[in-house]
Amino acid sequence: MKFLELAIVLDRIEQTTKRLEMVDIISEFLRKVDDEIRETVYLLQGKVAPDYEGIELGVAEKIAIKVLSTITGISEGKIEGELLKVGDLGKVGEELLKNKKQSSLFYEEMTISKVFRSFLKMAGESGSGSQTRKIQILQELLQNSEPIEARYIIRIVLGKMRIGVADMTIVDAIAIAFGRKEDEDEVERAYNIHPDLAEIAFTAYNGGIEALKSMKVKPGVPVRSMLAERLPSLKEILEKMGGSCAFEYKYDGLRIQAHKDGEKVILFSRRLENVTSQFPDIVREIRQNITAENAILDGEAVPFNLDTGEMLPFQEISRRRGRKFDLDATAERIPVVLFLFDILYYNNENMMNRPYAERRLKLLNNIRESMKLRIGKSKILSDENDAEKFFTEALEAGCEGIVAKNISEKSIYRAGAREFLWIKYKRDYQMEMEDTVDLVVVGAFGGQGRRSGGYGALLMAVYSKEDGLFRTICKLGSGFTDDQLNNLPRMLRPYLLKEKDRRVDSIIQPDYWFEPGKVLEVKGAEITISPTHTCCRNIIKEGAGLAIRFPRFTGRWREDKNPEEATSEEEIMEMYHSQKKKVLPDNP
Ligand code: AMP
Repeated sequence: MKFLELAIVLDRIEQTTKRLEMVDIISEFLRKVDDEIRETVYLLQGKVAPDYEGIELGVAEKIAIKVLSTITGISEGKIEGELLKVGDLGKVGEELLKNKKQSSLFYEEMTISKVFRSFLKMAGESGSGSQTRKIQILQELLQNSEPIEARYIIRIVLGKMRIGVADMTIVDAIAIAFGRKEDEDEVERAYNIHPDLAEIAFTAYNGGIEALKSMKVKPGVPVRSMLAERLPSLKEILEKMGGSCAFEYKYDGLRIQAHKDGEKVILFSRRLENVTSQFPDIVREIRQNITAENAILDGEAVPFNLDTGEMLPFQEISRRRGRKFDLDATAERIPVVLFLFDILYYNNENMMNRPYAERRLKLLNNIRESMKLRIGKSKILSDENDAEKFFTEALEAGCEGIVAKNISEKSIYRAGAREFLWIKYKRDYQMEMEDTVDLVVVGAFGGQGRRSGGYGALLMAVYSKEDGLFRTICKLGSGFTDDQLNNLPRMLRPYLLKEKDRRVDSIIQPDYWFEPGKVLEVKGAEITISPTHTCCRNIIKEGAGLAIRFPRFTGRWREDKNPEEATSEEEIMEMYHSQKKKVLPDNP
């Protein structure tokens, strides 16, 4: 079929904002295109492959302008000027071609498959001379284009199709084209486990809706992630779950769906982009620790301080994005731990229709944990107070909340669904700690990894003026330079004790105790309720104290202060109350 017909359909879609009208236009066209159905569906979405394959045409706007200039004889500067006015190079190209006489001598008929093949060829070009070859292909396409075709060819090569066709609109169109409207759910089911609409349309075209039922989960092809609903209180969550459910830490990082297929490991993001190259360390970890022939695992990658065992703020992970070079070095500097919380496929067995308990057991029994590959924390609870305690623990560990998971027989892994089988409960605001505090070193933890032999983190305390005690408020392991870390044992040796100083009030047991002496300046993200620290214990909340979240050494030793002059417990209480509320962005 002529590409021109597709261009006309794209234009009709662009003219409407009504979804049902789009569904009609698309389904009618899908029935007509015959064996060019795959190509048509990709082009409708402005791509040449599903997103998870990560294939891009890689043409910059500047190049497209150059090609337009060559074939129309109009200067690049003038075209750039038009682009500034119109804001869409597709439209600019279309107008330019309208004013240009086509030379029939070179005219070659453009079918959907021919145009598609040209795009694929462009995508496949790499290395030296690839830009020139891409320019040639684009030039050839545009020389043979009608103006309206040029509009879409330019938009597709720039990756800016923007005609507003959502994936679900195509799902519905496929149902109507090859079945009935009622078949939408069946098409969606197939799409959820195999999010390649072209493949789905092709299967339905060949075998009808029935054929979609036999589409199977396949390692290497991402499954659409299951999502969580939200409820405002733990009481409502427990009620909704029938009185009892599994609560899991809600790790604050990047959702990762890890696929192992033989020796191949592929990592997908929540948006199903292939992010394997950003996490060479996780790939290695999966290869080493998962013995199954194939597997699909769901989890969250969290930036982590391996030396202190602390989770780091989520923002650290974004530093890895977009870095093509030096990824191994980045992985070393900003390590991540993958916390697994679900298993979808294991050794050729689809686990998605099994209830939660069975999947959890499979995870526990088959995944060998390592430093960077761990299984997420989970607890079955039926009491609201216990759930509240678990929530506070999760926050203190650096998580953003908890996720409740249904444990009944119907608790399957529902790909692509946001339902009440999973319910998230997180804080909707964070306090902002504005000032630094001066804390006293009262203990230390032996380091691991690069810090082995030395100290990995220090146990820090504030001073209570009222009863003369030092009460713990955080573990401090971030912000030190290598030199400072190496020096810690020497600096703290004069204060080393065999057992806890009588003036120290601590629930935590560090590896080493110190006499309160050294004072450090610390900046944190916020002051939070803590089940493990003794600062302000039982004052704000029964059974809990206050802690500093994400503490960092500022680099300043307060040699001018003796421990009794450190920040006091009373000051922390004031700071807690005067913290500014920062509303957290919703993460739907
Ligand atoms: P939401 O995206 O708001 O629906 O919340 C669910 C997100 O929390 C998932 O997409 C994961 O990235 C993240 N998450 C962290 N820990 C868990 C967990 N234990 N179970 C499910 N999701 C989790």
